[in-house]
Amino acid sequence: MSIESLLAGKWLAGPSINDAIKRISLVNSNGCRAIVNYLGEDLTNRNYIDKTVEQYIQLIDAISANSQKSDISVKVTQIGLSISEEMAIANYYKIVDYAGKKGVFIWLDMESSNTVSSTIKIYESRLKNGNTGIAIQSYLKRSLNDVIRLTEQGGVIRLVKGAYKESPEIAFTRWEDKTRNFRNIMNYLFEKSPAFTIATHDLDIIRDAINLSRKYNSHVTFAMLLEIKNRYAYELARSGFRCSIYIPYGTKWVDYTFRRLREASNLHLILRSILER
Ligand SMILES: Cc1cc2nc3c(=O)[nH]c(=O)nc-3n(C[C@H](O)[C@H](O)[C@H](O)COP(=O)(O)OP(=O)(O)OC[C@H]3O[C@@H](n4cnc5c(N)ncnc54)[C@H](O)[C@@H]3O)c2cc1C
Repeated sequence: MSIESLLAGKWLAGPSINDAIKRISLVNSNGCRAIVNYLGEDLTNRNYIDKTVEQYIQLIDAISANSQKSDISVKVTQIGLSISEEMAIANYYKIVDYAGKKGVFIWLDMESSNTVSSTIKIYESRLKNGNTGIAIQSYLKRSLNDVIRLTEQGGVIRLVKGAYKESPEIAFTRWEDKTRNFRNIMNYLFEKSPAFTIATHDLDIIRDAINLSRKYNSHVTFAMLLEIKNRYAYELARSGFRCSIYIPYGTKWVDYTFRRLREASNLHLILRSILER
């Protein structure tokens, strides 16, 4: 059995839209929404970029036709940013416009730091139309300011710790520091944002968020990656909390899988993550 097929049944839904649709059904039947991403990043081939945009349009159709509870998450470097900002903007609008007609919510994933300003600019340019949200990484020193500015404009934030390797000039590189900044930004969101997503598997943070949700009137959603602590997410859903599971699918699995392997920082976690069903 190849590593691809091992992981395809675990961290990834599989190669096709049908595989994604099956996983969404499973997640929905456990009381959670889904956030689906078509794998791919740093694309420079126009033909492949066009096919990626078309894939997202077909995914929106499939979610809508199956009446599934699912958002979509897009990376700006898979829809043209690696060629030009204009191309990424045009493709983003195409996806967002189509999703709006079908009632599907579109997130922008956040990628490495050299793309953050463009991603935020692209997001801000259509923020007022609604139906969109953006991931913000707590390891970046700029992020609290970004969250304040976006929240004041009505932006919808999905707070994550951050998955790329960044330099200490711009990022908190120690786990304690990025976790502390996550809590700072989370506290701000509870105070100021009517609806946001806390995307982490850090159970201490989730416990604190549950306590804060009792104090504030915000709508918090908890989000986790496919097959990482998903039983805990399903328990949260049964207790009445909103939960989402992030489901990647497609054939370009290497970058995503490498980031997950790096985070499952010991062999025990890696083996358990691959073998546990
Ligand atoms: C819904 C969602 C969307 C995301 N979107 C983005 C994005 O757009 N941009 C971005 O940069 N990052 C994104 N991430 C990834 C995120 O930035 C972190 O890299 C990742 O979530 C690990 O950090 P953590 O918050 O879970 O905390 P950590 O402190 O890293 O982990 C907490 C605990 O979770 C468990 N755990 C974490 N990872 C694994 C694993 N691979 N296998 C097994 N156990 C594990 C461990 O037990 C660990 O102790 C997303 C994460 C989620 C949940």
